[in-house]
Amino acid sequence: MQAVQFSEHGDRDVIEYGEFPDPEPGRDEVLVDVKAGALNHLDVWTRKGLPGVDLEMPHIPGSDGAGVVLETGEDVTRFEEGDHVAVSAGVSCGVCEFCRDGEESLCVRYSIIGEHQRGVHSERTVVPEDNLVPVPDHVDWEIAGSASLVFQTAWRMLLHRGGLEPGEKVLVLGASGGVGHAAVQIADHAGAEVYATASTDEKLAYAEDCGAEHVINYEAEDFAAEIREHTGRRGVDMVVDHVGAATWRDSLKSLAKGGRVVTCGATTGGNPETDINRIFWNQLSVIGSTMATPGEVDDVLELVWDGTFEPRIREVLPMSEAARAHELLENREGFGKVVVRPDSEL
Ligand code: ZN
Repeated sequence: MQAVQFSEHGDRDVIEYGEFPDPEPGRDEVLVDVKAGALNHLDVWTRKGLPGVDLEMPHIPGSDGAGVVLETGEDVTRFEEGDHVAVSAGVSCGVCEFCRDGEESLCVRYSIIGEHQRGVHSERTVVPEDNLVPVPDHVDWEIAGSASLVFQTAWRMLLHRGGLEPGEKVLVLGASGGVGHAAVQIADHAGAEVYATASTDEKLAYAEDCGAEHVINYEAEDFAAEIREHTGRRGVDMVVDHVGAATWRDSLKSLAKGGRVVTCGATTGGNPETDINRIFWNQLSVIGSTMATPGEVDDVLELVWDGTFEPRIREVLPMSEAARAHELLENREGFGKVVVRPDSEL
């Protein structure tokens, strides 16, 4: 089969689309004919190489994907040939104290398909049954293959970890990115008053389309000052910050007393200057979140399949142009998800 792959870490030119041995499903695994899969910033980090992650080369990237079941291992009970499925990339052990508590994304052996083990951007892939979610036949492949990672991340971060309540004010930074546009939709659906930042007027218009009531161009304005002004100097109850070093201090400045900042990533760097005085005096909470439990994944994807939430598709490319897909992410060109499909599907 053909697969996106790289044999060493590096720049975009390490990415190839070429022959790879056909995968065979184990007892609890499912062989999937891949129709589409989205990229995430994780794919860029994985290509460049992450400290402490030693990959088996060549590595196939891709944490998001969807397709049709071709074959099931003998212990698989939830799926059969012909079913439409989407990948949910979090792999947990099922036996540690956190898994036994139903908190699989806290698993002590947690790993992510595409990051710590081979991903799904190939013509066919083998995925554990536990990492597949059923997809109704009417859902487009681009939608099915691009929702899972960002929507589950935003869902758990805002609702379970952040405890967002109707009527609260929430600021979503980088609202035009994958997690950002999911967070705006989920916060709006939860009944919050949504503030959003992005870098261009076009991206801000998309954020409004997703449900943001107030938008701030962070290239033109000091967003923390704008938030103070818009809220009568009070600040917002929650800031969703996946940007990291570039925004951290202003995120803290944007919070009301007793507010919380939730984070699931740090695309501009993970060691920001912080402000401990502001954290204790204003009694702020800093809350981390990663991926989601299988139950949370089911809940949020149900709302994607029925059209309540919509992953925006920025561009669909053949897998042979995976390097261009990385370029779109790295240059922050456009809005929403970049999807790749096997060349044979296009
Ligand atoms: Zn575990």
